[in-house]
Amino acid sequence: MARTELDSWDPTTSAGASATLVAAARAVATRRGLINDPFAEPLVRAVGVDFFTQVAAGELDVSDLGDDAAFDRMTELFAVRTRFFDDFFADAGRAGIRQAVIVASGLDARPYRLWWPPGTTVYEIDQPDVVEFKTQTLRALGAAPATHRRALGIDLRQDWPTALRRIGFDAAQPTAWIAEGLFIGFLPPAAQDRLLDGITELSAHGSRFAADHVPGGSPPQAHQEHLIADRWREHGLDVNLSGLTYPDECEDAAEYLAAQGWETVGSTLADVCAAAGFPGLRHNDFADAPMLTWYVTATRNAGVRFALDS
Ligand code: SAM
Repeated sequence: MARTELDSWDPTTSAGASATLVAAARAVATRRGLINDPFAEPLVRAVGVDFFTQVAAGELDVSDLGDDAAFDRMTELFAVRTRFFDDFFADAGRAGIRQAVIVASGLDARPYRLWWPPGTTVYEIDQPDVVEFKTQTLRALGAAPATHRRALGIDLRQDWPTALRRIGFDAAQPTAWIAEGLFIGFLPPAAQDRLLDGITELSAHGSRFAADHVPGGSPPQAHQEHLIADRWREHGLDVNLSGLTYPDECEDAAEYLAAQGWETVGSTLADVCAAAGFPGLRHNDFADAPMLTWYVTATRNAGVRFALDS
């Protein structure tokens, strides 16, 4: 089904199912020793979508699903991605940043599984039913956040900045923001721009931002998505991957941020693989990779710019 303006979801449906997919891949990557996310498997089990549960629990070996199913490759890609954002937060903490926001947090368990410098507050934003599901499930598992965690259930197409301030976000403090797995068409172009505008407005001098994103002008991946979905259907998962996202081409997120005054550094997937210690995965391996994204990190040094301007 195509996306609509007011659609909403939980971790079993629409864009929410993509959060479960990524968590299932993290569970597999954890079992393979590529990353360590002990919450991925129990979260996926609790969602209860059979295919993802079997994958996460190791009852279905993703290597047996075949290349078309892309799960084996996704496991590596998401492991690399996980390391990239883990490292980003660790660097931000070392630089003295004590406020973090995980935008489109899905089933990401970073507030529970990472070490955070004392005094850090981590905000998470996602759809209300996704946020509530994760909070309740982890509580039922007896998991406690490793730092102050404040979760905001709201649609990112709505006025989330006001809601974030209402729960204590301090726009005067530098913030480390991540948006992982969001800028691949989950938002309509105008909403993606508004989201980046909101982040920019709330970012004090010294703030940092990191995201993976589909580079501007990328060819549509619909053909590949159909192939992947066909293979998954054979294993009982009926999902229309291209129906989860908007077909319209968005502005390149890195260029958009640069135009807002952020100092940006872009990386290719091959760069990120090498930095994460996966040198065996070379650029050519990813020429036809599913969800081929680029990465951007950005720093807000607006204070310096304005000082020079005046
Ligand atoms: N960042 C998480 C991770 O990497 O595990 C989740 C990534 S998942 C691919 C995309 C996430 O974006 C989902 O959790 C979905 O609910 C969230 N999302 C997409 N559009 C959204 C919107 N309009 N409002 C709130 N959340 C949204």
